[in-house]
Parts: sequence; C-alpha cells; structure tokens
Amino acid sequence: MILSAQAEHSLSYSSHCLKQAIPLMVKYKMPITPLNYAIWYAYVSNKTPELNDALDKIIDEFKTCSHEHAKALFNQFLSSDDLALFYQLSGGFNDVVGKVHQDINEAINYSTEFNQTLQECHLKLKNADISQETGFDDVLDCVERLSDESATLQSRAQDFQNQLAQAYAEITDLKQELIRSKDKAQRDPLTGLLNRGKFDEDIKRFCKNNELAQVSVLTMIDIDHFKSFNDNFGHQKGDQVLRAVSAKLLKHVSSIGQAYRYGGEEFCFTAQFASISDMTNFTQLLRQTIAKLQIKKPNSDKVLSQVTASFGIAIKAKNSNPEQLIAKADKALYLAKEHGRNRIEIVEE
Ligand code: GH3
Ligand code: MG
Ligand code: MG
Repeated sequence: MILSAQAEHSLSYSSHCLKQAIPLMVKYKMPITPLNYAIWYAYVSNKTPELNDALDKIIDEFKTCSHEHAKALFNQFLSSDDLALFYQLSGGFNDVVGKVHQDINEAINYSTEFNQTLQECHLKLKNADISQETGFDDVLDCVERLSDESATLQSRAQDFQNQLAQAYAEITDLKQELIRSKDKAQRDPLTGLLNRGKFDEDIKRFCKNNELAQVSVLTMIDIDHFKSFNDNFGHQKGDQVLRAVSAKLLKHVSSIGQAYRYGGEEFCFTAQFASISDMTNFTQLLRQTIAKLQIKKPNSDKVLSQVTASFGIAIKAKNSNPEQLIAKADKALYLAKEHGRNRIEIVEE
C-alpha cells in the first residue's frame, strides 16, 4: 500500500509506517533492521519511485532483498537527509520508549519538588506559634500551598498515566502487527496449516532435538488419486477436499505435534509418542478419519466419491539429518502407494 507523502514524521506517523513496513519485511523474509525499515519506509511513502521500481525488480527476481541489495538501494536512492530520518525511524519503538523515559523524569522531578514542599511545610507547621497572629498565617499559607500543589500533582499523575497508556497501546499494537504478520507468513492461505517455509525451518530443529520422546516421527501424507477429484468435480471441489483433510489433521495432530501443508495435495506432521504401538494406533485412526470424508453431490446426500490418503512414516534416530529423514518418509509413502494406497508404511532411520 502506498501512503501519501507527509512532511511531518510524528511518532504516530512513523509507527503507522512501521505497521505498513513490517508485513512487507516479514513477507519477503527480511530481518527487521533499521536499514530494511528505511528502505521499506521509503517504499510505502512512495517518495522515490525509482527505488520502488528497483526494489520491485529485486523482489521479483530473488523473492527477497538481501542485506547487500538493501545497502546498495540505500546508497543509490536515499540521501544523507534520509540518514537522519533513517535513525529517527529505526526507533519507532525507541521514540516511544524515549518519550516514556522523558515522562518518567518529569514525574520524578515534580515529585521531588513536591517532597521539598512537604518538608518545608512540615517544618513551618512544627514551628508555627499560634499564640501569635502570624502563626495562623503560617498555617494557612502551608495548607494553601499543599492544597494547590497536591492538586497539580494529581493532574500531573493523571497526565502521566494517560501518556503511559498511550505508549502502552502503541507498543502493543506494533507487537500485535509483528506477530500477525509473522504468523501469516508462516501459514498456507488455502488450508490455514503451517506452510512449507515453516516446515523447512522447524524440521532442522526437530532433527537436532535429542530430548524428544522415545518414538519421534516425521509422517508424510498424500491424498490418493487427488487429480481425479479435480478432473471429475472441478478445482474448487479439490480445494474443499484439501481444506477438509487439513481440518482433520489440525484437530488430531495439534496435541501431539505440528502439521504442515508440504505442497499440493501433500501434508506432513512431526509428532512424539510413548511407543510404536501408540504411534501406529494414532496414524491408523487418522487414516480412517480421513477415509470417512465424502464428496457429495451439491444439495444432495448422494455420495460421489470417498477421500483416502496414504501415509509414510519415518521414525527419527538421535542426531538425525533433515534430508535423510524426509527421504525416509518419502520412501515409506512411496511404498504405501505401491502397496495399494489408503494405508500406512513405516521406515526406521
Ligand atoms: P496419487 O494417488 O498417486 O498421489 O495420485 P494423485 O492424483 O493424487 O497425484 P498427482 O501428483 O498425479 O496429482 C496431484 C494433483 O494435485 C495435481 C494438481 O493439479 C493438484 N493440486 C495441487 N495443488 C492443488 C491445489 O491447491 N488445489 C487443487 N484443487 N488441486 C491441486
Ligand atoms: Mg502427490
Ligand atoms: Mg496424491
């Protein structure tokens, strides 16, 4: 989205820009650094169309913008004036934090002044001689001062609280935006399952983790004869089947592991079990649950077709290697297809 040029870079404007820039950085898998922020800030504000064209080309070609490309763009299109802005903007957060700091200092200064007043009044009241007329004046003077200053203190405390609430809301907003964008970038839009990019990241950690339960598996799932659903009932029906299978996967797997859309009509999940028989029972139940899915004629109970899937399970060894583990699960899946589909096969690493 292109924002209209705005001369003044207020705190709310820079946080607005940050909100526009974050999803783009997340989408193109760029770390949220001041440099990347400066580039995308310039992009969303459309102040240098040449930069937008150059960045579009880089994204088209590489699907991301490397640190080197970002540096080159910065050097080519952004001037030393932008450099000042660059640092100002790098702190969408810093600005807010700095403001809170300043407010705290002001509050401390004022409460120190009020403390001093309290002490002075305390002394004055202690020494007030009410046998003299001036003694009464001293007491009245103290009461008046304390009353005025405590009213000011109260209103300052209220201001301070309002400023804090505003800063809190702004930071929470930015944090939510970041979480939303990251989550969106990790999900497959059709099924809502975690996507292949997230799987590629997670599988490395899964393989390295030697603390997992006795039976840790990577299971590949492929819908049987899926092409024929598309051919016979249309692509949209095919999409519906993908969503229905994904919903079953999500429901069953979420308590014991993590499910992903691996690509096309292929899914996978990583999970942990106490024993081989627990693992087998779980997978057979999931297979049967999917096999109960039916494609029905629109507005009718007539069943047009059943959905089934084949399962390839690789049991993970300690210190396993992601490529090898995936290859084993693939091999098991291949066997399941070869042995007649709608079945599970297991390969140990
Ligand atoms: P097998 O039992 O051997 O797995 O046969 P298959 O027909 O399932 O496998 P094949 O690889 O021949 O076909 C997969 C089809 O999945 C081809 C492709 O058009 C379709 N497909 C991939 N992604 C999508 C999608 O997002 N939506 C729809 N509707 N179809 C998709
Ligand atoms: Mg396939
Ligand atoms: Mg298939």
